[in-house]
Amino acid sequence: MRIDLHTHSRVPDGTDAPGELVARAAAAGLDVVALTDHDTFDGLDEAVAAGERHGVRVIRGIEVSTARAGRSVHLLAYGVDEEDAALTAELTKIREGRSGRLTPVLTKLAALGVPVTEEEVLVHVGDSPSVGRPHIADALVAAGHVADRTEAFDRFLADGGPAHVPRYTVDLERGIDLVHQARGVAVIAHPWGRGRKPLLPPDYLEQLVDEHGLDGFEVDHQDHDPTVRDELRRLGARLGVIMTGSSDYHGAGKVDHDLGCNTTDPEMFARLQELSALR
Ligand SMILES: [Zn+2]
Ligand SMILES: [Zn+2]
Repeated sequence: MRIDLHTHSRVPDGTDAPGELVARAAAAGLDVVALTDHDTFDGLDEAVAAGERHGVRVIRGIEVSTARAGRSVHLLAYGVDEEDAALTAELTKIREGRSGRLTPVLTKLAALGVPVTEEEVLVHVGDSPSVGRPHIADALVAAGHVADRTEAFDRFLADGGPAHVPRYTVDLERGIDLVHQARGVAVIAHPWGRGRKPLLPPDYLEQLVDEHGLDGFEVDHQDHDPTVRDELRRLGARLGVIMTGSSDYHGAGKVDHDLGCNTTDPEMFARLQELSALR
């Protein structure tokens, strides 16, 4: 059984419609795919319906933008009550915060000599509920300032980069609590990707498990090299948490993240499903 628990449709920053993504998951030989768009549940109904047509089991998920010490941490949540008032209120604030920082980012980019206009960004937003950094990155690519999204983030848009503008986020610990209150399973996405290990060191991850009941973290992810994966696997085994593997697919928007390029062990998936059912 091939299971990919972290993918993005164009709601808001991938390039495939949710149904298209599921069709591609079927073509890629996946049996289970979770749609985990950033801070929104909007694509889930379409994805689930497509899953029924294509014979792929679609897991309802979300990737919540949280932060620790001013740096972003992505929190995957599975099987949450999508009507939960506290969680949906925070998600709305996060989405509004993301759209609200477009102007200051564009001002910074212009000052850095790589101007793009708001219109040029909005072209790339499609029917997404909010404007995000990936859309700005797409505009930078289209304007010929950078070769691809990766270069746009590395040179300008990444956290702490010269055109980065911090935005409203939920504290990671509160994020975990909110997911649990909404009866979901909380799994930290790519915890040690892009130099994040000092932000989320082993003793802190252990503390999250002990004090906030963190359910698991992603191990097999393109941002983790083999050494990081080994170390996280040993840590996860010691802590007894769920460990997942996934593509973090974004359609054509992110290279080297093909559907199913990493997968989740069926045993781990079964544990996740059991936990989800208990909540
Ligand atoms: Zn992420
Ligand atoms: Zn993601």
